[in-house]
Formats: sequence, structure tokens, C-alpha cells
Amino acid sequence: MFSPDPPSSAASTPPVQTPSQGTYAAGVHPYAEFLGKVAKPGRYIGGEEQQQVKAPEGLACRFVLAFPDLYEVGMSHLGTRILYDLINKSEDLACERAFSPWIDLEAELRARGLPLVSLESQTPLRDFDVVGVSLQYELSYTNVLLNLDLGGIPLRSAERGERDPIVVAGGPTATHPEPLTPFVDLFLVGEAEEVLPGLLRMIGRMRREGRARAEILAAAAKVTGIYVPAFYFVERDERSGLLVVAGRNAAGIAAGAPERVTRVWVRDLDQYPFPTEFPVPYAEAIFDRAAVEITRGCTEGCRFCQAGIIYRPVRERDPKAIIKAVLEGVDKAGFADTSLTALSTADVSCIDPLIKELAPELRRRKVKLGVASLRAYGLNESLLDEIKSVGINGLTFAPEAGTQRMRDVINKNVSDEDILTSARRIFARGYDRIKMYFIMGLPTETEADVVGIAETGRRVREVARDLGLHARMPTVTVSVSQHVPKPHTPFQWAAMEAIEDLYGKVKLLRELAKRYRIELKTHNQQESWLECLFSRGDRDMAEVLERAYLTGARFEGWRECFSFERWLKAIADAGVDPSRYTRTLPLDGRLPWDHIDIGLEPGFLAEEYRKALKSRVSPPCGKPFGAKVHATTPDEAVADARRLVCYDCGIACDMSEMRQERLVSLRSLGELKGQRHGRERLETEEAAAAAAGGAMVSVERLRGRLNPSQHAEGSAFKAAAEAPYSRVRMFFGKSGPMCFMGHLDLMRVIPRMLRRAGIETAFSRGFNPVPRMSFGPALALGVGALEEVAELDLLLPGAAEDMAGLWSEARREVEAAALLERLAAVAPPGLTIVAVRVVAPGERRIGELIAGADYSVAIGAELAAEVAAALPGRLAGPLMVERAAKPGKRRGLRAGAAGASVAIDVRPRVIAAEVDVSAGILRFRLDLSQDPGEAESPNKGVRPREVVHALCGAPVPDHRVCRDRLLARGSEGLIPLRSLGPLLNKMGEQWQREAAIAAQSQV
Ligand code: SF4
Repeated sequence: MFSPDPPSSAASTPPVQTPSQGTYAAGVHPYAEFLGKVAKPGRYIGGEEQQQVKAPEGLACRFVLAFPDLYEVGMSHLGTRILYDLINKSEDLACERAFSPWIDLEAELRARGLPLVSLESQTPLRDFDVVGVSLQYELSYTNVLLNLDLGGIPLRSAERGERDPIVVAGGPTATHPEPLTPFVDLFLVGEAEEVLPGLLRMIGRMRREGRARAEILAAAAKVTGIYVPAFYFVERDERSGLLVVAGRNAAGIAAGAPERVTRVWVRDLDQYPFPTEFPVPYAEAIFDRAAVEITRGCTEGCRFCQAGIIYRPVRERDPKAIIKAVLEGVDKAGFADTSLTALSTADVSCIDPLIKELAPELRRRKVKLGVASLRAYGLNESLLDEIKSVGINGLTFAPEAGTQRMRDVINKNVSDEDILTSARRIFARGYDRIKMYFIMGLPTETEADVVGIAETGRRVREVARDLGLHARMPTVTVSVSQHVPKPHTPFQWAAMEAIEDLYGKVKLLRELAKRYRIELKTHNQQESWLECLFSRGDRDMAEVLERAYLTGARFEGWRECFSFERWLKAIADAGVDPSRYTRTLPLDGRLPWDHIDIGLEPGFLAEEYRKALKSRVSPPCGKPFGAKVHATTPDEAVADARRLVCYDCGIACDMSEMRQERLVSLRSLGELKGQRHGRERLETEEAAAAAAGGAMVSVERLRGRLNPSQHAEGSAFKAAAEAPYSRVRMFFGKSGPMCFMGHLDLMRVIPRMLRRAGIETAFSRGFNPVPRMSFGPALALGVGALEEVAELDLLLPGAAEDMAGLWSEARREVEAAALLERLAAVAPPGLTIVAVRVVAPGERRIGELIAGADYSVAIGAELAAEVAAALPGRLAGPLMVERAAKPGKRRGLRAGAAGASVAIDVRPRVIAAEVDVSAGILRFRLDLSQDPGEAESPNKGVRPREVVHALCGAPVPDHRVCRDRLLARGSEGLIPLRSLGPLLNKMGEQWQREAAIAAQSQV
């Protein structure tokens, strides 16, 4: 019954590969026993494609980047990608990753006294040389403490011993670090690329030499950009009322620590090409795509924006390098989405020709392009066409303020005219939504400015109405957050608006949004208030932070976790007056971040603040006066001899160099354009020749054969929905990290794998096309498998002949063997391609075929002996299991209140069971066929976990269970699904319909 090979009578069994790593093999995650109990265990196990694991021996330094948020947030963060690549590129350095565990895993770890471990090598954080903390926003500070605490590291720097790692923090909020100073050994202020590898080597070397912690910190303090808080003392400033760094203490002077810490930044970004090989998330990341940083810094000078100041000057990457990074990132990882990221994409000097150059390549790959941080200008008609052609249905802008007066105060270089013109162009192209970001509570704001936010939304909606889009009125969303005055900005002295006043403004906006039929999204006012406290906070806020953490504050940026009351109590218990941080600060007072030197001339920010209060604008620097968009061709750029604006802010940009670099970028894009046109001509000729010979016709070319109504939106997806295809059944094993991937995760992993193999899939029809594929029954998290199945509709060469029934079985086997090889080469760790079959036209789908499955469970010799003795008796009668009743279910169910359970006899589903005592393995076969009416039954879907429990008389963790094979019903009873051949073919109606549509789309 449990023979690993199919019966000899089965026809055409496809070739077999053995999974390299069985479910019980070494390499099981040390927390596998309980990972199956927590939500999304894929967050914690690592093992992704492109992960880098280095043996610790011989390394100069082991570094772990501990991101203070969930995996899906951290894996979307570009800075994490950059650092991971930067450090791991050095052979003598290792960078691993750790993310904050969600509440459920934290509880499991605490209950068992286990530490937070890295994803790559499952090493506790306390065992690294250096723990890196990524500081992205203030509300993640409690998670900084959580990671240290769970990682086995004393919270306070002063309490750490010689064996504890050095804790280094960096990121945008490291420019105003005082609330975190007791917990962090040293801060890296600015951009890490040029400093971090050397710093890590130095720390690693000194630790290996047995040097004291104090010596290491003293050596680090001499490195430009490094702030060691222990070397400075604070005092209260009379004018601002805040604790400010007043100078170096004796240890700081002895160490040679600088009086002010200078921000470090990279002069030439192209020295550090954007990484294209980052671990590909299994669990869904917030931004599940190959995002590429195209520019650092911004020319616009918005007065509320900290990033616009602390990333000065603007530095653009070489457009050729950007295109290479985007395409390599997509091709290597198999992502279906990518995005260009910059603080203000529309102000990147070559954005127009860059997108136009990139779009055809992405269309060819059916990859969607997202363009972040657009402005309401610079969107000419042809650029919008290109963006639309790569799958984007909605665009997002940030006018930030609802009236021109307010936009002048904040120095936002956008007019009403820009917004409405862009809206008209966007809606005219069939985009179905626009989202606009606004800020309320800005300095000098009046009620008219708040009303202006909703009015802007109304006017944009009216544009759609004037275009006659009544029948399919686009969605206009207005997203409003509140202003938080940030250090190192012209508004750093401005007051944070009182929460009660913000509530009133939200109420007003809600009424107007309802009246104007626009969507309104708002940001939590209490969270912003707290963000202000930590942004402008001093060392007093450290105690508030610690108290809040110790009383349970976690994931404060997550609405379901944020507790305002807890923070109010922590503030009161610490004896801190929050109004110190929210009120207007005096221009002549000292501030808690004054010792951090961003590189600005003294007085620059104050002058901008004064101009703001008088509604006077400072046009963008680095552009000709009055210009909004840059030249889009080299000729235009050469012809424009106007001087570029500069305010001598202290960064000291070389304006002629800036002008020259932009010209070089435009010229190199022009060269690329010429090359692309030549290549496309060649491909067209090759395609014609290939088509004549019956070879594969790509989707891009198929588009040309469809009638216009079929590709009215220029989408390659439409063609991929109509194209002839072959149905391919792929059998695969799941082991190691893949066992903790949920069914939805698997549905993302397989298309990526196909993309990496260069295999095109058919897509579903409809508004949101997805690759056409189906899977066998879902496995519980943690359960391994040897022979799972996915059925894929693939656009194979000659698929039209296949659909017409012209392929011989021998031809199918040749195709299957080629696919097996290609897929095996790109399968991610833990997923082993076992066999591939190209099924004949009309063969039943797997959903109709799967009737059972074989399982094996590693229960150990001792339990195996007990179960062997008890098994005959257990199988002789009913096998009762308790299952939680689903409340509120429909007729026929004994559904009770939540918490109630029903008793179910699973014995009819157990076809056979036996125990191999010497191997310590229980094996059983389950009937997975669905009885008529079962959908209405509480017995729906037999659960292997319950069967194991019933057969063993005790629960067994899921990670010890393996589904050995799926079974189909053959003439001789249940046989392995993998062994099915053409004898079971049966033409289905759906197939006939699809074949007819595909035939129509042929030439
Ligand atoms: S030096 Fe001039 S161009 Fe450079 S960031 Fe400052 S103001 Fe802008």
C-alpha cells in the first residue's frame, strides 16, 4: 500500500527527482515545534531565494540587522536591501536579518525562555558581534527595545557586559537620537555605505583581540558620522526648556569624540550600484516587488520634510544602471511588480525618458511598474500612456495643502492648475482612481485651508464628471495626516497642533468628503502626537519609552496595538511634561539635536521658517528659476543656459557638475533608445521567421494579432488570457522553510519561479488578471510533502497544436523533460521539482481527480511501540475527534456559540494505517474525496492533524507530519496522482471553450 513507486500498470510515469531534503532531515528550524502555532510562520524562518548564509569561521565581524517591525515591513525597506548587499559583498563580513516577532511568537518565546534568532543561521541576537538597529520612524522605538530584550541583550547600554554585542543604530531618526541614547551604544548619522563596513571590521577585530567595550566605543567615536552618547553630557536649556547635549564628558574628551557629529553621505551613488539580489520574501511583503532607488535627496525644499534636508544634496543614479537594476531585480527574483523610488520622482532630471525606455522592457515581461511620489506636474500625455501600459490603474500625488496660500507656506511647488490638468490627462486615459496626500495642522493653517483640502478633491472629481465619466466615475481619495514638526527642518520650531483641534478638523473633513462624494482617509491623531514627542524629544523621553515598553507597548505604528492610555500613564509616571515637546520652540533656544551636524549653514533653517510665516516661497534649488520639469532631451538641456537656483544652504553643490551629469544621463538614455529600436527590429524579423517555422510566439507579439477590443488598454495580460496554452502538471516536494509557507504564499512563489525560468503563463481574464494555475488540497503549516501538485496553463511553443490534439505522447514527454530541467534549476530552497507532465487536451483537472493521500508521521520509537499495540483496537471502532463549531453557520449544523465544539468520527476517512516501529513512523492513508452535501457538513475536509491525534492518542506537532503522495481513483483503486496517464483523459466543456477562443486568436 505504501510503496514509493507507482503501480507498474500506470501509463507514462514521468521522470522523478528525489527531494534533496526530507521533512525530517537535519536543517529543521529550532523553533519548528511551535512555529506552526503562530500566524504567518514564514516571517521567521528565512531560507528564501537569494538569502546569504556564511559560515562564522574566519569572519571579521558577524552583524545582524534587527529591523524593529514585522518581516513584511522590513523586507520592503530599501535601506535593508542596500545594507544586506553592502555587508555581504565583503567576504570577511556577514549580515544576517532579524525582525520583531508578532505578539503570538513573543508569547511563545517568553513562555519557553527562548531568544529571538536571526533568519539566516538561527543565531540568538546576543551572539553577534554587532546588532544593527534600523530607525525608520519614532513609533517603532518600543520594538527596538523588544528586539534587544528578546535577543538576550540588556536594554541599557550601561548594563551591557564585555560579551554583549555592540548595538549600532542608523536611519533617518538617528539624526535626532536623544530618546534612544540610553539603549544604543553608538549611532551612525547619515548614509552607511562608506562607513559601516570599516566600522564593523574594526569592532570585530577589537572584540577578537579581547579589547574592552569602552575601548571599542572610544575607537568608534573617532569615525566620522559616529555618535557615542556615553561620551556627552546634557543640561537643560533655559530658553527651550529641553535637555540638550552641552558638551563632551571626560571620557569623550579622552576618546577624541567630536564636539558635533557630522552626517556622512555618499558623493557618487553609482559607486554603490543598487542591489539586485535580495532575499525574495516567501511571506507577502508590504511592497512585494523589485523596488529600485533612483535618486537620493530632493531639490524641492518642502519646509515640513525632514528627508528633503537630511538627504541633501540630490544625487541621481546613472539611468543605464537604473534600468539594469530594475530588469535584473525582476528577472533574478521573478517579481511581477517593480517600482522607481525617489523622494520626488517627478523631479528626477531624466524621469520622462527613463520611464519611456523602461516601459517596453517591462511590458515584454508582463511586469507592472509603480512610480512613487509623483507630483501633479511633469505628467505629459506620452508619459502617462507609458505608465498606463505597464499596468497601473491609479496614480498618487502629494499636493500636501489644499490652498495656494498654504502651499506657499510649506514651499510646495504645485499649483491648482497643475493638479487639475494632470487629473484631466489621467482620467482621459481611463485611470480609475487618483489618490492625493495632504497634511493638516501646518503652521498658520486656517479653516479655509482645511476646507481647501476637500475642495481640491471635489474639483478633481468634477474633472472626471466634465469628461463624461458618469457611468464609471473614478475614485478620488483624499488622504490626510497631521503635521509633526521634525528636527532639522524649517518647521522644527513650530507647534504641533492640539489633538482636540485636530479632531475638529477631521470632523469637518468627514462632512465635506461625504458631501463631495470623495473618499477620505485619515491618520491617527494620537499616534502623530506621540511621534512629535519622540521627534523633538530629549533624554527624558527615554524613561517614558522604557516604561511604556515594560508595560506592554509594542508595534505602536499598528492600529490594533497602539494604546494611548498606556502612553499617557508612562508619561505621567516618568514625570514628563509633554507640552515641552509640542509647543512652539524659541528660535534662540538650544535643541536636543543641535549636536548633530547635517551640513547646513547656521541660520538657513531659521530664514526658511521666517519666509514661511510670511508665505514667501523658495523655488526649488538645482533647477532654473521658475522651472518645474527638467529638459527631456540633450538638445533641450544644452539650449537651456539659465542659471540653476542655489541658496548656499551649506551643502556646497557644484552646479556646473550637476548640469553636466544631467546632460550625460540624457545622452546615455538616447543611446539606449537607439539600441532598443534596433533590437526590436531584429526581434520582429526573428519572430516572423520563428512563426513560419511553428516555434513559440511570445505574448508581446500575440498582442498584435488580437483584435483592438481585446487589447484596448495595451495590456499584455489580455493576450496572455487568450493565447493557446498547454496544461502542465507539476509535482513538487516541500521541505525545510517551504513547509511553513501557507497556500497563498505558494501561489506567489510558483509564478515567480516560472518567471525566473522564462516560462510564460496564461492569465485569467478580467480586471485583475492572475496566472492561471490550480493546486492540490492545502497543507497545514509545518507539514512537509514529497509529491504535491500544481496544474499550470503555460504558453509553450506550439501550444496551439497541443490544444488541437496534434501532439503525440512522445512530444509531451520531450516538453515535460525540458520543463522539468528548467524548473528544477530555479526552484527556491525547500521546493523540489519531482516530476512534470504535459497533460493531454481535455484531461480532467486535478480538482476532479484527487481522491486521497498517504501520510507519514515521525512519532519516535517509543510512541510508535505504544501506537502499534493500540492501533488495531482504535481502527476497529469510531475515531472521535473534537472540532470547534463555527458559530452562525447555516442549516443542518449543530453550530453553537463561539468556543463550542462538535465530536466527529474520522474513522470513515481513514482507509488504512500502520506503524513502522523500528523507524518510529506512523503511516496512514486518507480518503479526501468529497461526499455530496459535505460542503454543508461540519465534517467538511478531513484534517490530518486530527487523524494523527486520534490514531496516536496524543497530539503530534505538524512539522513531524509529511504528505507522501496525492492519490487519484484508478480502475484498480487509489493510485498515485503522478502515475496518471492519457487513459484517464476526458474532454471537458471548459477546455473545449478555451480551445475555441485560442483558435480564434490565431493568425
Ligand atoms: S547647496 Fe544649493 S543646490 Fe545644493 S542643496 Fe543647498 S541650496 Fe540646494
